[in-house]
Amino acid sequence: MYAATPALCQEEKAGKILVERVGDTAFIQLHAPSFQALTPRQQALAYWLTQASIAIDPIIYDQLSAYGLQEKRLLEEIMAHPQGIDPAAMPKIAEFAKLFWANRGNHNDLTSQKFLPAFTFDQLEKAALVAQKNGAFRTAYSDLPPLKTPADVTRELESLRASLFDPAFEPMITAKSPVGRKDTIQASSNTFYKNLSLTDLKGFQEKYPLNSSVVKTADGKLTELVYRAGTPDGKVPPGLYATFLKQANEYFEKARAYAEPAQAEAIGHLIRYYQTGEYADWVAFGTAWVQNDATVDFDNGFIEVYRDARGAKGSSQSFVTVTDKPITTAMKKLAENAGYFEQKAPWDPKYKLTSFKLPVVKAVETVIESGDFSVTTIGDNLPNENEIHEKYGSKNFLFTGSDRALNDATGKTAIAEFAAGPAEIERNETYGTEAGSLMTALHEVIGHGSGKLSERVSRGAQPFLKEYFSTLEEGRADLMALWNVWDPKLKELGLISNQEEVAKAMYDNAALVALTQLRRIPHGDTIEEDHERDRQLIAHYVADKVPGSIEQFTRDGRTYVRVADYQKMRQGVGMLLAELMRIKAEGDYDAIKALVDKYGVHFDPALRDQVLARYKKLNLPTYFAGMNACLTASFGKNGEVEKVEIDYLLDPVRQYLNYGAMYDKALAP
Ligand SMILES: [Zn+2]
Repeated sequence: MYAATPALCQEEKAGKILVERVGDTAFIQLHAPSFQALTPRQQALAYWLTQASIAIDPIIYDQLSAYGLQEKRLLEEIMAHPQGIDPAAMPKIAEFAKLFWANRGNHNDLTSQKFLPAFTFDQLEKAALVAQKNGAFRTAYSDLPPLKTPADVTRELESLRASLFDPAFEPMITAKSPVGRKDTIQASSNTFYKNLSLTDLKGFQEKYPLNSSVVKTADGKLTELVYRAGTPDGKVPPGLYATFLKQANEYFEKARAYAEPAQAEAIGHLIRYYQTGEYADWVAFGTAWVQNDATVDFDNGFIEVYRDARGAKGSSQSFVTVTDKPITTAMKKLAENAGYFEQKAPWDPKYKLTSFKLPVVKAVETVIESGDFSVTTIGDNLPNENEIHEKYGSKNFLFTGSDRALNDATGKTAIAEFAAGPAEIERNETYGTEAGSLMTALHEVIGHGSGKLSERVSRGAQPFLKEYFSTLEEGRADLMALWNVWDPKLKELGLISNQEEVAKAMYDNAALVALTQLRRIPHGDTIEEDHERDRQLIAHYVADKVPGSIEQFTRDGRTYVRVADYQKMRQGVGMLLAELMRIKAEGDYDAIKALVDKYGVHFDPALRDQVLARYKKLNLPTYFAGMNACLTASFGKNGEVEKVEIDYLLDPVRQYLNYGAMYDKALAP
């Protein structure tokens, strides 16, 4: 059932998205069609960068739990050596292993809560002993010693008993409001702090706040175990995760040879940072990285800090991307014509800009994500270090490949249930993806960048509009997309295929989303999230102010929403857009509060319950794990990359055993 395939990458180029479903979790395949258009040199660069991403992947398992790496080895060895394991136990172990990989451990990646296996301790122990007879655990797994005898296996299992089977033992990765006597760091399973409490940390100055684990030693002293490989000359000794960081650096050295000079410089700084762990080297990397806009781009490091209840320690994470040419080109063309769209905007001329400083946004397809980087991230603005983006700005990534995969995996099923009729279903089928991409491009480029503020708020509207600012700004950007999708300039620039139908598909979606998004708010009767508020505001304002534009109706006891007249809806879009621009430009807090409170916050809980029930019947996944592309390189006599092929594995077990094989040869097929 889990037989290894002869090649690392299967020949599987079909456009399958939803690869596998384990309970609430779906594995979805990320596609990077732009990879084919890269030069051989760029493909070689991408290959070595993805190897570096795989190299750091184990680190997050240890960061999230002290037992993570042992559990990972145990499950992977069993999955790679399953012959003769009790058929009553094996499917349950396989299911658990898949969820374990999807979440980088036995806590749910999103809720941070522990999940338990469906098999018993005895079943797991027997399976491990059979796997051992089949050849498992013979070699060291990274820093973990081999398990040579059955007694070694039994001891290993015993040491993992509480972590795997006791729900009360380390119940959360990050416990922000712990119950009982433990504080936030004691109650968290993550390993950023070991054997200590928040009180111990008072007055302790970390030298490596982002990339160390703080440990209390037997004599009561605090020390920092720095995440670093050490320098080759031995002046900086290796630290925590040296095995993985050293391996990553080997691949970065190879990648550097294929990179253009500016990117090669950035890679050089990252290699140095992984050797020394010094913050100055991290900033040097970020500074070079943010100014480089290579077609094959990447990030790799200890980046987001939200796993740490103190907000200091960075999660190990990485991605490698290829620029999504069609959408990036569209965004460039829109940026060049920003002045035109500003003149056509439906607001007071005194709020119109005459010169533009537009955001740099790159639309990208993901080749690989690893560590603590989730497929549900569809936009990211990096780096996080203030001192870098104040001086050099930031890179704004739009993960269009992930966005498409998430939509394809769930969107079609939901549309069939919620669309007003067959015309809307067909339109979404044919033009939905194009409308979604265009909406994103318009939103980012001519949406957020548009409009001039009055003298009073010239330093920014945020301090005036406070908690309503984000809702206003996201709404304004959405409305700029909805307003301009009908503009003939888009046709002239070649950015739209069938203007009438694409525009209608965009409007259908804007009207419908106010209904379908209610599924994300299972409790209460108010909306808190800013994007959800903005979408609700648009649909409800337009329906109220322009009768006959958007209509809600009931069929067979079910509620539907339909755009009755697209031009009337556009009229409402223009009215709201003009008003939101005025509010932003004048910093009119009372006006935005009145608008959002009336149209964007409240909903009928009975309608929400109906929406929830209809979604429940569709049995859509709640959680998502990304399946990466699989790159295979062939090499010449001197180790140079001759050719790189991209395939889609469509098999989570094979993917994660391939990754594990980098440190444990027994996992290779
Ligand atoms: Zn936005």
